[in-house]
Amino acid sequence: MLLVVPEIEKASAGELIDLIKQAVIAGEGAGYPKGGWKIILQKLKESVEENGGKVSTNTKVDKVIIENGEVKGVTIKDQKIEADKVIVAVPCQQVFSVLDKNKFPVEFVRKAENITPTCGVSIDFAISEPVIDISGMIVSEEPPILGLPTSNLDPTIAPENKQLATFLLVIPAEQFAKRKDMELNNLEKLVYEMFPKLKGKTLWTRKLKLPMVDGAAPLYNQTRKDRIPVKVPIKGLFFAGDSYAAPGGGGDIAWHTARKCVEEICKN
Ligand SMILES: Cc1cc2nc3c(=O)[nH]c(=O)nc-3n(C[C@H](O)[C@H](O)[C@H](O)COP(=O)(O)OP(=O)(O)OC[C@H]3O[C@@H](n4cnc5c(N)ncnc54)[C@H](O)[C@@H]3O)c2cc1C
Repeated sequence: MLLVVPEIEKASAGELIDLIKQAVIAGEGAGYPKGGWKIILQKLKESVEENGGKVSTNTKVDKVIIENGEVKGVTIKDQKIEADKVIVAVPCQQVFSVLDKNKFPVEFVRKAENITPTCGVSIDFAISEPVIDISGMIVSEEPPILGLPTSNLDPTIAPENKQLATFLLVIPAEQFAKRKDMELNNLEKLVYEMFPKLKGKTLWTRKLKLPMVDGAAPLYNQTRKDRIPVKVPIKGLFFAGDSYAAPGGGGDIAWHTARKCVEEICKN
């Protein structure tokens, strides 16, 4: 459980307090899945298939078909797949790439298009030998950096006696275009300052400029009640993902929305 916000004075205190409450109830803080995220996706796929479903990856949905206020299915290239329930899981800012804007109220369109994501730059470091001996998360406030020596939590994700670590520097969305290159250099410099032993031990780095880290930055003006809910008044249409209305931040929001979708669908 984690709330990442570039400017603390714009953070939603309510969402933060609620997240702390959930963490206290759960008795756990942030965690990392053993084997990496692909294990979770693999298990999900297996579970769908065991229950008679089919998972198609690398398949772009072109349109969600809505007729007379009801979902009828989706189109993929020229193929129509009929369905009376569709969960749209693309970030809300891109939702009209698959939905017809004219079929939604002005308020829905405004919410979808105006949610600000969390942006940032990240660097993965592949290291020739373990030089970072911290097992938890590395956090700095100014600039806002999050670091995770991932292979300390799960050694199977790096070759034996090697280390893998990721660092993320968060940038306010409105400054991302201007600052991303500078902040990538800044992040690299700061990581080497934090861990001088890294110098000369880095085998390779992967540097990413990320216009979207979390779909909705947890700002005071885009709390869960300001975002699009999981269920809207179009029969059979649901929304899941980290930019929609649910508690938490980032992956936590996505998980809560997925769970809400299941609850809504099972109600009927
Ligand atoms: C570097 C980095 C570190 C992060 N660390 C953390 C962390 O420590 N903890 C945490 O909780 N969160 C973290 N996050 C955020 C987390 O990854 C997201 O919150 C989460 O992935 C959101 O899930 P999602 O399903 O909403 O969206 P996504 O993971 O973005 O999935 C949306 C999917 O929709 C697909 N798609 C889009 N359009 C179409 C279409 N037309 N047809 C078919 N598919 C389509 C996209 O290809 C994509 O796969 C991190 C993100 C980044 C980038």
